[in-house]
Amino acid sequence: MSKVLLVVLDGLGDRPIDGKTPLSEAKTPNMNKLAKMGINGIMDTISPGIRPGSDTGHLSLLGYDPYKYYTGRGPIEAAGAGVDVKPGDIAFRVNFATVEGEGESVFEKVVVDRRAGRISETDELEKAINEGVDLSEFGVEFIFKRGSGHRGALVLRGENLSDKISDTDPHKVGEKVKRCVPLDDSEEAKRTAEIVNSFMEQAHRILENHPLNAEREKRGLPKANVVLLRGVGKCPHIPSFEEMHGMKLAVIAGTTLIKGIGRLLKGYVPDIEGATGNRNTNLDNKVKAALEALKKYDFVLLHIKATDELSHDGDFEGKKEFIEKVDKAIEPLLSLDFRDVCLVVTADHSTPVSIKEHTGDPVPVIVVHEGVRVDDVEEFSELKAWKGGLCRIRGMDLFRIALDLVDRMEKFGA
Ligand code: ZN
Ligand code: ZN
Repeated sequence: MSKVLLVVLDGLGDRPIDGKTPLSEAKTPNMNKLAKMGINGIMDTISPGIRPGSDTGHLSLLGYDPYKYYTGRGPIEAAGAGVDVKPGDIAFRVNFATVEGEGESVFEKVVVDRRAGRISETDELEKAINEGVDLSEFGVEFIFKRGSGHRGALVLRGENLSDKISDTDPHKVGEKVKRCVPLDDSEEAKRTAEIVNSFMEQAHRILENHPLNAEREKRGLPKANVVLLRGVGKCPHIPSFEEMHGMKLAVIAGTTLIKGIGRLLKGYVPDIEGATGNRNTNLDNKVKAALEALKKYDFVLLHIKATDELSHDGDFEGKKEFIEKVDKAIEPLLSLDFRDVCLVVTADHSTPVSIKEHTGDPVPVIVVHEGVRVDDVEEFSELKAWKGGLCRIRGMDLFRIALDLVDRMEKFGA
């Protein structure tokens, strides 16, 4: 049976400035060849006008209705950081940060740096928190895991926990650390907020007195003396990709968020050397890994992040140049046997450089497979793709269209 290779350039779509977008201006001979070989269209990843996050966008692209399965970023980031999250776990995204001020309580202190000087040496701090914080009086276990840079994840595991609680991250410097409060009237939310506040106080005490921070102070660096929590979510009951679609999934990605989605769906998510999720990522290694994964897995997602980052920076030229780099790197995909592989090239949402945020503008799609009705679109561009034979579809439609082409769709009716 043939397989699917889904290539996603994060935030690729754009809004024209003087009739031009980074993609329409980039020299992309390889993507243009694919556009000529395949059927083209535009896609609303979730629904027209909806601004997808990368997480909800990717769930749609993988055939999961995000309105049914998405429960916040915390569980996905925790899975991406390597925590084996279980349904019912309460998960947060974490920042190591710097606070200053008098007194004992962390909630009297003011945040002066939300990233603790972009600290990266957090191994020791992770260990100290895992060994030092004690939540046993609440009958709750926790897993604290460092991520890349100043980031990390916290998971609470136990009975009667709720994600209807607030962040402790004030999201701004110059403000006090926020006390976690319940967001509904349930006992579970009240209890969970209390547990979170206890965690905050204990973690602050441990970090404040940690030798690494004394040493950082000597070197004139901001101390990582608090962990700020945000993006809370309850880990969903989500069927694995194989249970859901009867196919084995592999995810080739550099960013924690997309790796987290792969792990949540119980896919194969290798660590790729040099895959950083930024513009210096090793694209050749990622393409190689995707081709390798295609030998063993039925559905391979190859995710490329930097297009989105450059868009958030409002960097038109940078985005254009990076697209050109991707175009060179995907050249090996042109010699795939399209009787065996359905190749899809698209994006998870638009991130126009003029807006620097995700928008609901549809994104271009190419589908290449033996037997598709090749249309007369000759280049890969959000300004041309709408003329193609796919017309305007949604992310979940794209997933089904690909499955139909590779003969993995069941007949509806007799
Ligand atoms: Zn995205
Ligand atoms: Zn983004």
